[in-house]
Amino acid sequence: MYAQVIVDISHSQVDKIFEYSCGDDVQVGCRVKAPFGGRVVEGFVIGISQTPSFDVSKIKPIKEVYDEQPALIPECFSLMEGIASRYRVPKAVALRLFLPSEMRLGRVNEVYTKYIRLVNPDISLNKAAKKQSAALEDLKAGDREFASFCARFGRPAVNAIIEKGGAEVYKVRRARTPMKGEEDEYVPVSLTPAQRSALDYIENSQKTVQLIHGVTGSGKTEIYLSYIAKVLGEGKTAIFLVPEISLTPQMLRQLRRRFKGQAAIMHSGLSAGERFDEWWRLRSGEARIAIGARSAVFAPLENLGAIIIDEEHDSSYQSETAPRYSTIDIARMRAENNGCKLILGSATPSVESYICATQGEYGLIELPERINKKPLPEVVIADMRGEVKRGNNSAFSRALREELSATLSAGNQAIIFLNRRGYAKTVMCRDCGYVAKCRNCDVSLTYHSEENCLKCHYCGAKYHMLSACPECGGRHLMYGGTGTQRVVSDLRELFPSARILRMDNDTVSGKDGHYKILSAFGKREADILVGTQMIAKGHDFPSVTLVGILDADMSLHFSDYRSGERTFQLITQVAGRSGRAGEKGKVVLQTYSPENYILRYAAGYDYKGFFENEVRIRKATLFPPYSLICRVMVTAEEDAPALEALKQVYFAVDALRREDEKEFIFFNKMHSPIKKLQGRVRYQVLMRLRTDKLLPQIYDIAVNASTPRALAYVEENPANLS
Ligand code: ADP
Ligand code: ZN
Repeated sequence: MYAQVIVDISHSQVDKIFEYSCGDDVQVGCRVKAPFGGRVVEGFVIGISQTPSFDVSKIKPIKEVYDEQPALIPECFSLMEGIASRYRVPKAVALRLFLPSEMRLGRVNEVYTKYIRLVNPDISLNKAAKKQSAALEDLKAGDREFASFCARFGRPAVNAIIEKGGAEVYKVRRARTPMKGEEDEYVPVSLTPAQRSALDYIENSQKTVQLIHGVTGSGKTEIYLSYIAKVLGEGKTAIFLVPEISLTPQMLRQLRRRFKGQAAIMHSGLSAGERFDEWWRLRSGEARIAIGARSAVFAPLENLGAIIIDEEHDSSYQSETAPRYSTIDIARMRAENNGCKLILGSATPSVESYICATQGEYGLIELPERINKKPLPEVVIADMRGEVKRGNNSAFSRALREELSATLSAGNQAIIFLNRRGYAKTVMCRDCGYVAKCRNCDVSLTYHSEENCLKCHYCGAKYHMLSACPECGGRHLMYGGTGTQRVVSDLRELFPSARILRMDNDTVSGKDGHYKILSAFGKREADILVGTQMIAKGHDFPSVTLVGILDADMSLHFSDYRSGERTFQLITQVAGRSGRAGEKGKVVLQTYSPENYILRYAAGYDYKGFFENEVRIRKATLFPPYSLICRVMVTAEEDAPALEALKQVYFAVDALRREDEKEFIFFNKMHSPIKKLQGRVRYQVLMRLRTDKLLPQIYDIAVNASTPRALAYVEENPANLS
C-alpha cells in the first residue's frame, strides 16, 4: 500500500503531497514519521492507495506510525484545502490547526504519565555517587512521578540507577480531566415564548447562518444550550465558541452542570496535558460538545449538528497569527460541510454580520426584551467638559460621585470601567472635547511619545504636537486617558471605607489571576471593582447596581474606522453588567463629547439607530464593508532584507494598480506606525480597495516576496494598524 503524505514543514516549496510505501497499520488521518531530504520528519497521511503513482523503486517506506486511531478527522482535508487556498498558507500549516500544539511537537506524553519504581534496592553504587544513592533511597518509600523525580535528583543519576537495574519507568494512562469537584444537579428551566419561537425559527429556516440579536440578559445562552441539547439528542455533536474572557468559572459550572462529561472545555487555564486530554475525549467520541475560544472551531468532532458563536462581534475571533483566519468563515465552512446550522449571537452584532442578516443572507432573530421584562439599566451621560475649570481634577464627575455614594450606602456593588486599548493614545482637549484628527482620513491621530509627534495610522501622515487646543485655545490637553492607579487613589480619597479591587494587566498575573479577582468580587469581598476591557464581558454579579464608564471617548477616538462600533459595543456590554438581578441598575457614562451620536445611541440602547447611521457613514467614506483595508506587513531582523521585500511587494501591487486604478482608493508604502517590535523592523504596504477581487493576487505577492530573512504577510481589515 502507498500513503500520500503532507510533511509537517511550513514552507511553500515542500507544500506538496509526497508518496511512501506503508503497511496496513497506516490509515488516512494518521501522523507518521517519514524520511525526507536526508532526515526524518513528521507528516500527515491524507490518502492511501493500492498502487503507486510513480516509479516504485524510488518510493521509500514510512518509518513509524504514531496513531492507532487517526488523529485527524476526514473533514480536516476539505477544510485544509479551503484554508490553504483562502489564506495562502502551506497545507501543513492548515493541518496543524486541527491538532493540539503539544501533541504535534511531541511535548505531551499523550495520555500517559510516567512513573518510576524500585526494582532492586541492592544494586552496587559507586560511593561517590551520592545523588544515585539518595534517589534509590527515596524510591524505597514509594513510586514517584518521573518528571519531578528527575528534577529532584538530576537526569544523570536517575538514568544511572535505571541502567544498573535498580529502578524502572512505567506509564499510567491518566485522564487529567479538568472537571473537578462535585456538580450540582441541573434543574431545567421552561423556555419563554420568545426563546421557544427563536428555536423554532432556527429549526425551520433553510439558511445555514442564523444571527440572534438579543439585548443583554434576553436569554440567548439558554437558547444556545437548548439547541445543543436537541442536537445531542439526535446523536450529533456541537461546538460552542465564546471569547476566552467569558470562560468564567460561573460559565464553566453552568456548562458542566448541564452537560456533565459530554462537554470538553478548552481554555487557556488548562495545562498542556489537560488540553490534550480534553481534545482526546472529543476525538474518541467520549465527549460530544467542544466549548472554547477561537481555536475550538477546529475541534475533532465528526457528525456536527451545530456551531454556536457567542459574542460574535468580538475581535478575538480574528486570528492575529498565521493563518490569519476569521473564525466565522471557518465555522461557516464546517457548517456547510456538515449540513448544520451556524448560530451567531450578540447584543451588538458586528456591522458586517447585521448587514448580512438584513439582506437575507443570514436568518435573523430579534430578542428586544430581557427575561421577565426586567428593564435595562438607565444610562446617564455626564458632561466632563469644564469639570477642570470648576476645580474638579479628579477622574470622577459629580454625577458619578453621587451615584457611587448612594450605591455604597444601599449596600450594593459598583463597577468602574476604564477604556484601554493597546498603547495608542489620542489627544483631547478637556475644555471643549476637541480631538486631533487626520485631515485626509477623518480618523483620530495617535500620539507617539518616542518621536513626540502625532501620526495617522491610515495614511502615515505626521503632525506636530499641539500645545493648545486649535478649537478653543484651551491648554488642558490630555494624552490618553486616566490610569487605573489614579482612579483607585481618587476613589480611596472619596470613599475611604469602601473596599476596592483593581483588575488590569498590572494586577492580573498568571493564567487564572483574573478569575481570582472576579470571584473575590462575586463573593462580595469588595464594594467597587475598577478595571479595563477585561471586566466588560460575560460576568453575572447580582449585587452590582451601578456601572461607571470613565473616558468613553478614549475608544471613540481610537484611530480605527471601527472605533464608533467598538465604543457602542463596549458601552452596551459594560452597561449590561448593571442591575442583572433584583434592583434596577444605573450607568453613568462620562464623556467630553456628550453630543456624540454613538454615545446617544448607546445610552438609548438603540442598536438599529446606531447601525443605520454607521452604515451610512461607511458607505459615504468608503470604509469596510464598503471597501477592504489590506495591509501587507513586512518584518525582518534587519533593515536591508525588509526593504528588499517591501520594494518587491510595492512594485508588484503597483503593477496591479496600474491595470485597474479605480479599484484602489488608497495605496502607499511606509514604515509601520510602530517601527520596531520584538526586535523586528516593520514596514507596510497599505491599501484600501473597493472590493476583494485582487485579494488572492495580493496574497501571492506576499508569499513570493517572503525570504528566509524577511517575512511578508497579508492582513485583511486589521483591528489594529499599529
Ligand atoms: P444573555 O445570554 O442573552 O445575556 P442569559 O441567557 O444569560 O442572557 O439569561 C439572562 C438571565 O435570565 C440568566 O440569569 C438566566 O439564568 C435567566 N434565564 C434565561 N432563560 C430563562 C428562562 N427560560 N426562565 C427563567 N430564567 C431564565
Ligand atoms: Zn490620514
